[in-house]
Amino acid sequence: MRYTEQVTSTVSKPPMLAIALLAVVFAFGLFIVGYDQGHLFSIVQGAEAYEELYMHEMTHDMRHAAGFPCH
Ligand SMILES: [Zn+2]
Repeated sequence: MRYTEQVTSTVSKPPMLAIALLAVVFAFGLFIVGYDQGHLFSIVQGAEAYEELYMHEMTHDMRHAAGFPCH
């Protein structure tokens, strides 16, 4: 009996769009947690945001746990 063997090989590429989007989300999160000193809220709140530091206070423990110095 004769039979033929069929082999299918696929080369899959990583979804570059998803990787790019996740990199943007990661960079934004890193900025919020590690570097924001009122910059984000100053867009709508003005110079007052640099004194209130809402985002800094909200992410303060996470900031220290991640090793970012702030005080
Ligand atoms: Zn601190």
